Amino acid sequence: VNVTGKDTSVRLLALDGNDTVGGTKYLLRCGERAVMLDFGTNYAKQSIYYEELLKPRTAAGIFDLVAMGILPDARGLYRDDVHLPDLELRGPEVGAIDAVLVTHAHLDHAGAVGLLRPDIPMVTSAMTAVTLKAMQDSGTSLLGTETIYWNPREPEDRRGGTVLRADRRSERISRDLVVTDGSWSSPFEEYWGYSVQKKGLKVGELGGDLQEFDCRAHPIDHSVKGAVGFVVETDRGSCVYPGDVRMHGLQSQKTVDFLEVVRSPRPYVLFMEGTNIAEVPEEVTGEEDVAVNVRQILSDIGGEFAIADFGPRNIERLEIFLRAAREHHRKLVVTPKDAFLLRAMSMVDPKVPVPGDDMAVFDSPKASEGGWEELVFTEFEGATVKASALGRSPGDYLLAFSFLDIKHLVDIRPRGGHYIYSASEAFSEEQTIDFRRLKDWLDRFRIKSHGFWYEGDKLSFSKGKEGLHASGHAPAADLVKIVRTLNPEIVVPLHTEHPEAFARFFGGDCKIVQPPCSEWIDL
Ligand SMILES: [Zn+2]
Repeated sequence: VNVTGKDTSVRLLALDGNDTVGGTKYLLRCGERAVMLDFGTNYAKQSIYYEELLKPRTAAGIFDLVAMGILPDARGLYRDDVHLPDLELRGPEVGAIDAVLVTHAHLDHAGAVGLLRPDIPMVTSAMTAVTLKAMQDSGTSLLGTETIYWNPREPEDRRGGTVLRADRRSERISRDLVVTDGSWSSPFEEYWGYSVQKKGLKVGELGGDLQEFDCRAHPIDHSVKGAVGFVVETDRGSCVYPGDVRMHGLQSQKTVDFLEVVRSPRPYVLFMEGTNIAEVPEEVTGEEDVAVNVRQILSDIGGEFAIADFGPRNIERLEIFLRAAREHHRKLVVTPKDAFLLRAMSMVDPKVPVPGDDMAVFDSPKASEGGWEELVFTEFEGATVKASALGRSPGDYLLAFSFLDIKHLVDIRPRGGHYIYSASEAFSEEQTIDFRRLKDWLDRFRIKSHGFWYEGDKLSFSKGKEGLHASGHAPAADLVKIVRTLNPEIVVPLHTEHPEAFARFFGGDCKIVQPPCSEWIDL
């Protein structure tokens, strides 16, 4: 508190994600204001105890996640309706929170937002907001992936115990949204209120002003559209949080502009991701390299059957494949889920491609289809393609499938072909097993893989200029460049398993603060 009696303190509560890649949940309190910097799912912690078939019990609300240390134990943070009556939280009191600032639509940054107290508005770009909503609309709603809306839960007595049950007859609720990029279109507003169920969606207030939270947002380059970095103004100077960032994408100019806008006056604090800070330097694959290599493969394979596998929501990569397909007179065939997402994103940016002349939706009827699927097949009725057509004229299409879609090969029955793998390397045991299984599928249909290969049991991925995937994260050299450009007084490393590695590069130049978990500190 200074002489005028105004509280000028800058305090930080690192609730989660101070030594993991993802799961970032940092609460920044500047005097009277407090904002949460992302509120993602901590997959690193979750995958220690859980897997696809071994899940936290939804009937227990957040109990399992807190008990297993996957969600932070903190008071005053979560929705009331996800607490079992006997869940006793003992962690730090968070106090009033003005907003949760969401940098981008990856679930390790946004996945747990839905569990926050409902009075905390979400501040994010319109593109991130519709991306998260489209994912929720077209996915299965599980606790923690209720990013945008939820059915409130009620405690219910079951044989003397208590379970939490979502009342499906009740209206769904969404929190207030403040969009960083100013106004929104009426299609956006319409989609925001769209419900996949017959029941309505009670939409929170749309609008508000970013300045109300003393913060600004600027676009930044990452592997998902709509990524923004935030600047929070305090009496000590600006606190900069770029989220995940890179300088080797097609949108790298955004990162350059971001740095230019926020570097002066000298920032007080920089919250810096360090995914690759401890990596041994190697030649980086840029998006431009990926584009060149994809075009080359399509030109080499002539009219043979081809599958393109790129990460979910990576629409920039989809656009690279779409352009390459067009050049080779192929139609890009996307899954209904991708079509639904593209449609939602095009409400914010009409330049986002949707099914039509050069893109088709893969049509393989399911026993039960959701409202979102009906919408896709109604809206893109004239632009669908069935498995049999793909099998008959493989050279006319480029199929955008990932590993989980591979089951449809039994309908397509390709006679040879190519699998262009354009996503990240396997980094867990489970993913390594999936690659083995993918290889067996490809072998059965005599499909050649590009981007990864096996020598005996050894799995390798193409790299550098030959690579078919560009990471969403800057390599160590670029991270150093970013920190040096911004030259903050304090660096807080996050989104890294090696926060200590920052000292190697910046010891002395700026103070490096590694916050302890779940303890308020003064910055
Ligand atoms: Zn990310």
